[in-house]
Amino acid sequence: MTGLLTGKVALVTGAGRGIGRACALALASEGAAVAVNYSRSEEAAQQVVAAIEAAGGQAVALKADVADPKQVERLFADLLAKYYGRLDALVNNAGITRDGLILRMSLEDWNQVVALNLTGTFLCLKAASRIMLKQRCGRVVNISSTSGVAGNAGQANYSAAKAGVLGLTRSAARELGSRGITVNAVAPGFIATDMTSALELEPILAQVPLRRVGQPEEVAGLVRFLCADPAAAYITGQVITIDGGMVMA
Ligand code: NAD
Repeated sequence: MTGLLTGKVALVTGAGRGIGRACALALASEGAAVAVNYSRSEEAAQQVVAAIEAAGGQAVALKADVADPKQVERLFADLLAKYYGRLDALVNNAGITRDGLILRMSLEDWNQVVALNLTGTFLCLKAASRIMLKQRCGRVVNISSTSGVAGNAGQANYSAAKAGVLGLTRSAARELGSRGITVNAVAPGFIATDMTSALELEPILAQVPLRRVGQPEEVAGLVRFLCADPAAAYITGQVITIDGGMVMA
């Protein structure tokens, strides 16, 4: 398989389903060897690996809870051992929600959401930057959310964590840019995945100029552009919203 990422290595966190799965498939379709990180369902991750291999690509499933520093350390050690010490693209995708109004939000729900969405992104970015700084190249995409850009009632923990990801993205872009590493954030609106499957659609669609939810493959197309396309080489520190026009600057 030849493509823009042939001979390169990508890691997608939380890639067993949803947006992460679509990103793993999209990067593999450009020829990258893809590490498909998962925390619980090995079966789902192995299905992603099988789909990539069936299309002629290379992939491996790597288990790690990316909110746990020790497991992140092992994840990167496993990745380097498997793929010749390289990492060209990191997609920090793993995320959870624990929604509730502030008055009723437990500290545990706050901490869990911040630990994965923000601290997990930091831990993986830190480990990846060590490799990318040596290579003097690399691309990082952090998956944020329109909730992090505009806020959302009932999602104070998630919005704060996803807004934190934007600050992390901009700081990292400033720190790493001189070594040829780009760091950008993608902020999806409502995308049809398990995360949003229980939401009532009508009030959501009323806020979306394009009057539909997005598909994981649409987010993955943007991630593929940022990670693989030569035209994205001069884009860094940016937040790119993909939400059918719901949030406009
Ligand atoms: P999803 O729930 O289908 O996928 C989340 C993935 O993260 C799952 O594969 C899950 O197993 C994995 N994960 C959970 N905890 C983990 C951990 N501790 N370590 C490693 N992996 C873990 O949801 P999705 O919609 O595909 O979400 C993907 C990303 O996109 C998330 O960061 C989410 O916040 C963000 N996002 C989603 C939407 C949407 O509308 N679906 C909108 C904005 C942002």
